[in-house]
Amino acid sequence: MFDTPNPDVGHLLVITGNMMSGKTEELIARIRTFERVEAIRAQAARREDIVYKARRIGVYKHGLDTRYSDTQIASHSGQRIEATLVDSPIALYNDVMTNTYGIVACDEVQFFMERDADGYVIIKVLAQLLRQRCLVVVSGLDKDFRGMPFGPMGDILALADERVSLTSTCVRCGAPAVLPQRLIDGRPAAWNDPIVFPGATESYEPRCRRCHVTFYSESTEVYPVDTRSVVDVVRAEVAAADE
Ligand SMILES: [Zn+2]
Repeated sequence: MFDTPNPDVGHLLVITGNMMSGKTEELIARIRTFERVEAIRAQAARREDIVYKARRIGVYKHGLDTRYSDTQIASHSGQRIEATLVDSPIALYNDVMTNTYGIVACDEVQFFMERDADGYVIIKVLAQLLRQRCLVVVSGLDKDFRGMPFGPMGDILALADERVSLTSTCVRCGAPAVLPQRLIDGRPAAWNDPIVFPGATESYEPRCRRCHVTFYSESTEVYPVDTRSVVDVVRAEVAAADE
């Protein structure tokens, strides 16, 4: 179905794109393929009398994502795979080291917002896993509902050896959808709306750039000016959602 990289070097595959574009489906398909490839390589090595230790696969997801299941990665189409919940990049790294996984998969990687003086901590963790020759495959949303890069995803994409970018279908017009539309009580949310209004129903749907609506609630500016960085805004949202 697709090439599996050389086991002697690190490799980072990033699956990205809009909501409902099949990112998790693709991640699960890759994990299944890696399992098959490792089993075949181990068999082939036995035939040739070569020592090959099949790499074990660690599957993770960010602790924020409990939409479908607590301990599984689940795609919209119903595919499922067992996963370990981690709530920080360091927790992810420590678990990989403890279990000596050679292949690491992680869903919803955009939620790893922690930063230190060098930038996003998840970048350091991924770079370290690559130095340790891990095959790493992550999936995550590339843009937030404002159409801005989602947390660490821009940096993760820059670090990648291989990128798969998926789109969904705009629910308004059927065009390829690249942005998540945030709705509060069925109406487009403003750029600066708080994450959840008491009593309000919040939802998201995939839209194309033409149908995607974002505005600043105190004015009619199309391109809002927010003195906070987008990272701070999203981090505040994640913190609010955490409570
Ligand atoms: Zn559209």
